[in-house]
Amino acid sequence: MQKIEHIGIAVKDLDRAEETYGVLFGSKPYKRESVESEGVITSFLRNGPNKIELLQATNENSPIAKFIEKKGEGIHHIAFSVVDIYSEMERMRKDGFRILNDKPKIGADNKIICFIHPKSANGVLIELCQERADNI
Ligand code: ZN
Repeated sequence: MQKIEHIGIAVKDLDRAEETYGVLFGSKPYKRESVESEGVITSFLRNGPNKIELLQATNENSPIAKFIEKKGEGIHHIAFSVVDIYSEMERMRKDGFRILNDKPKIGADNKIICFIHPKSANGVLIELCQERADNI
């Protein structure tokens, strides 16, 4: 496990959230990306080593729509970068963590990712992410 790669924030209105965080960070979003499989549009902002991923649902079955329905807008997940996601998943599994994906999947911003269930991490959804190469 390396550094925190980004913090994911569930939002209702991506345009407005981009403005808000654009002012907060003093920089504009550098990338907007749709992740069809998750039913989300993501937008990324960076300030030095800090990175925020804003997530807006594209349909009512999206995990983000369900999250906002239950808890309202707010921090959705914390993502850690890893060098080898396969070995980290193996390690976490062996230690009894509940991993939500059988194998890593393609995420936003050129990453392969997996999620660890909040029940395994004191109520926080954890994302592991690795820079994408050709190893998926
Ligand atoms: Zn994320």
